[in-house]
Amino acid sequence: GSQALDKTVDSVCPFCGVGCLLTYKVKNNKIISVDGRDGPANQSRLCVKGRFGFDYVHHPHRLTTPLIRRADVPKDMAVTRDPADWASVFREATWDEALDLAGATLKGLRDTHGRKALAGFGSAKGSNEEAYLFQKLVRTGFGSNNVDHCTRLCHASSVAALLEGIGSGAVSNQVNDVDHAELILVIGSNTAGNHPVAATWMKNAAKRGLKIVTADPRGTDLDKHAWRKLQFKADTDVALINAMIHTIIEEGLADAAFISARVSNFEALRDSVRAFSPQAMAPVCGVPAAAIREVARAYARAKAAMIFWGMGVSQHVHGTDNVRSLMALCLVAGQIGKPGSGLHPLRGQNNVQGASDAGLIPMMFPNYQRVDDSAAHQWFEDFWGMTLDDQPGYTVVEIMHKALAPESDPHKVRGMYIMGENPAMSDPDLNQARRALASLSHLVVQDIFMTETAWLADVVLPAGAWPEKTGTVSNTDRMLQLGRQAIDPPGDARPDLWIIQQIAHRMGLTWNYPGENCGVALVYEEMRQTMHTAIGGISWERLQREGSVTYPCLNADDPGLATVFTDHFPTPDGRAHLVPTTLTLAAEKPDAAYPLVLITGRQLEHWHTGSMTRRSAVLDALEPVATASVNAGELARLGLTAGAMVTLRSRRGTLDVQLRRDDGTPDGTVFMPFAYREAAANLLTHAALDPFAKIPEFKYCAVCITPV
Ligand code: SF4
Repeated sequence: GSQALDKTVDSVCPFCGVGCLLTYKVKNNKIISVDGRDGPANQSRLCVKGRFGFDYVHHPHRLTTPLIRRADVPKDMAVTRDPADWASVFREATWDEALDLAGATLKGLRDTHGRKALAGFGSAKGSNEEAYLFQKLVRTGFGSNNVDHCTRLCHASSVAALLEGIGSGAVSNQVNDVDHAELILVIGSNTAGNHPVAATWMKNAAKRGLKIVTADPRGTDLDKHAWRKLQFKADTDVALINAMIHTIIEEGLADAAFISARVSNFEALRDSVRAFSPQAMAPVCGVPAAAIREVARAYARAKAAMIFWGMGVSQHVHGTDNVRSLMALCLVAGQIGKPGSGLHPLRGQNNVQGASDAGLIPMMFPNYQRVDDSAAHQWFEDFWGMTLDDQPGYTVVEIMHKALAPESDPHKVRGMYIMGENPAMSDPDLNQARRALASLSHLVVQDIFMTETAWLADVVLPAGAWPEKTGTVSNTDRMLQLGRQAIDPPGDARPDLWIIQQIAHRMGLTWNYPGENCGVALVYEEMRQTMHTAIGGISWERLQREGSVTYPCLNADDPGLATVFTDHFPTPDGRAHLVPTTLTLAAEKPDAAYPLVLITGRQLEHWHTGSMTRRSAVLDALEPVATASVNAGELARLGLTAGAMVTLRSRRGTLDVQLRRDDGTPDGTVFMPFAYREAAANLLTHAALDPFAKIPEFKYCAVCITPV
């Protein structure tokens, strides 16, 4: 029956980067239900995750007390134990005991082995304030730039290419700008599954005449709304995109006025795409030349056209080249800098944009100030009053490699602090990543559940979940949005912002952030000083009042810029720089022993490593079991039917999983979501990295299937 509520609290969805606003309905310190709220990104819509993915916060697996590893329990690879069985490995501790042990041990490793001996992974699921404080702790307390987070696994290549080419890693136009577009190209993105409310803007605009072009090796739900669908062969993004650029230039459809006014290096780009004619590329990418030409012409001729892309583009060893090509397509056609016309890398996690803005990356201070830029380095040394490392730190996968480095390596990573990330599920080649985590002298894990990573920890710190704290997040649209505390954390769990400050104190830092909600307002205002060119006009007080504000926003009465790059790019000469690309192959191609291509990704009902959504009753009921999808032809070749249990094997690992039929999956290919601990797709994936952005190749490796 209906229950009288104690209160309703306005907040933001904790899952994807769309940033839907919602309201928590609270009774007896419990969330009873969630309603969509009229936010700029969602207009009261929510997808199934936003609507039903809230009861994880009340799950009996929640960590409610600090834990210390029992001295006699070795770190083995059994990271998929029953989380309720934590007492077999850990004992309960007080906060002081756990924090003293973590702080003293990390400090000891730093003092004995030097500043490179420590590293930290922060979280794109935490607030901006947590991200800011976490990177400040690593930079000023651990003493190096060895700080990163899951952006490395998602859009690192997009950000690298965007910073290089146009001087800014953020989107140029917001999702709802599709209302002003005549055509959109959606490439390497299962938008309807992974950014469902963003997809509703696209679908609604299509009903009013927007031409949607989908380009993906897999069929996706957006195809039903598409004007044209380009199902290209996995690993051939550059071939397809450069063939479109070739068409635009050869047919005189390039925007000569835009190029001469705002673009550099056009001649080199033009020469480089000569070899990429649609006829030559059709057999490479598997799309007929006529279809490539038709889409290229429509894109170039459209009054306004946007490009949206996701991990299908970014997670390759040629991820940076893929994005360079997409940017070249956009710039050659002059499709940027006006409403309905631009570039939009769809951000995955709810705060991956904000965490990167806040400096949770190894080569940049907050606001993308390079750590090896002497002026920026000096500014932050003065601002924080500390000596700082001026060398970029290691990235996510490199830190794992450095944990396994020989004793003699002066940069061997020996101690780590991991907040709200689960690399024992999310890193590529999990057997190696788990060995690396287990080999650390000291691992501190701060989370809300006994994650796969937490099983390898020496100290586990129980954190507050999203509805249990107040802070800001930044969505894919460059919108800063405020989440408000709705309920109290369970047991002795504490908000992340408090825990980070406690670790900092024990590393010898004298921080002082008084005020409610662990000093979040003061942390925000300090962060704002480091990011004045982005959020200078957004005070904490304004956020309380308005809830969502678009940036860049420089003044208190500035509504924020929805469309950027209207007259120049934020590069030294104000121009966009074109970068030619070449065809690079995946690190591992199928062969006789491993004849199938594995593509990993997500599905609508589950979020990333599954720690939250698989503990949400409705979502778990919708998709309770790990599956691997192949098409009907592949099933026939295997002599199996949907529902059969099979073993998937790569050169790095093996797992058992149930087969599902999905005829959108191309021949010779198998698709697996990575959310299932009992069949962790990343046991199979390859740790090869894109040389520019150090993003791993989650979207391509060789596997074989055998019946169980
Ligand atoms: Fe949450 Fe994204 Fe779904 Fe919106 S689209 S409700 S932000 S998961």
